[in-house]
Amino acid sequence: MVERLQSLLFPCLILLASVYASLYVGFLPPLWVDLLPLLPFILFAIGILLAWHFNKGRVLILVCLLLIPKVHSADSDASVTAYLVVSCLCIALLTFVKERGFFNRFVINRFLFLAMLLCWSYSVEAHWISFGFLDHPIFNLQVTWSTFLLWTILLLSISLIFTSWWVSNDNFSACGLVSIVSLILLSHFSVSQSQFDALLSAQFLLWIWFLLMESHRMAYLDDLTKLPGRRALNEKLVGLPKKYALAMVDIDHFKKFNDTYGHDMGDRVLKNVATQLKRFSHPGQAFRYGGEEFTIVFRHKHLEEVSDILEDIRDQIEHASVSVFDPKKKQDIFVNVTASLGVAFASQGEFPDAVLKRADEALYQAKRKGRNQIVQANSSKTRKT
Ligand code: GH3
Ligand code: MG
Ligand code: MG
Repeated sequence: MVERLQSLLFPCLILLASVYASLYVGFLPPLWVDLLPLLPFILFAIGILLAWHFNKGRVLILVCLLLIPKVHSADSDASVTAYLVVSCLCIALLTFVKERGFFNRFVINRFLFLAMLLCWSYSVEAHWISFGFLDHPIFNLQVTWSTFLLWTILLLSISLIFTSWWVSNDNFSACGLVSIVSLILLSHFSVSQSQFDALLSAQFLLWIWFLLMESHRMAYLDDLTKLPGRRALNEKLVGLPKKYALAMVDIDHFKKFNDTYGHDMGDRVLKNVATQLKRFSHPGQAFRYGGEEFTIVFRHKHLEEVSDILEDIRDQIEHASVSVFDPKKKQDIFVNVTASLGVAFASQGEFPDAVLKRADEALYQAKRKGRNQIVQANSSKTRKT
């Protein structure tokens, strides 16, 4: 739950800061107020450049969509509503669309889609499309059909994106959710042009933040297992306390598994093992070292504590069944894999690289002894004698 809320934390802070700033924007020095209308354009340009750099086509559509009310100010409530409904639905739908990159054949489809949205908003504004027939009350209530439909689509968009965020807990749906709330505030509660500029700038800032988070995720998180990768491990190793232990985990006979069931079934097993390791993330943080090897870092832990936890991990991996397709039987079957573990405790003054090397040697002893077991490395002092 805490992890889930973390993805919403920063977008919500940006939203709150922008609402606060928009309330006090009138107190800014005149020069700043004069420059404020330029801010959305500057942030838009930064957003486009970053989306290009990180190859994120969905953000390209989003920032273009967000710029529409800035370059074309709507002169009627109907067109504001048309824009709001379309953009909220568009943001919600984008969370379910696969990322296809920035410059490729999909870019034409994307811009056609954007043009379609623009035509829709413009048609409503030019009264080519009129929703006057919906402006009568629902039965004897004070609510009209048009208001009812508007809020239904908005609530649908929010529900869609909320579900996507709840299920996937990714930054895109978290930012999209906050973006929709921000758009509703922008279209219904911004009174002056300065307030509008402040709230709109925050929208661009939100998506710039998303792109920076994405770049961080791409650099540090392993795409398959969603565990932090080797780069993150290297950074973790330089900031360790005096007392720590490192464990190496290696899946047994994994090559044979791949040969029997195929590489994609092997990937499924890797994901499953990573899920087991994540369950112990409080005492020991797991990293994907590479291939079918993982490293667990235990900070401030005693020998007995780590031994018990590692035994639990080994046991969990052994008993976690994975459903795979058996090409011989031509049906799904449940299989289990085992893992061997080597652990080393840091001696005083020992470099983390040396501790890791000892853990790796212990792992190979575990392999030689018959696999599916844990071997503890001799302390570095003992080894020298
Ligand atoms: P041992 O018990 O001695 O560890 O034997 P092993 O077969 O597990 O070890 P070996 O080093 O011979 O083979 C590792 C295999 O892991 C080879 C490679 O195909 C597989 N592998 C590495 N990375 C991935 C991956 O990302 N996905 C899949 N499916 N397989 C991978
Ligand atoms: Mg290996
Ligand atoms: Mg192996």
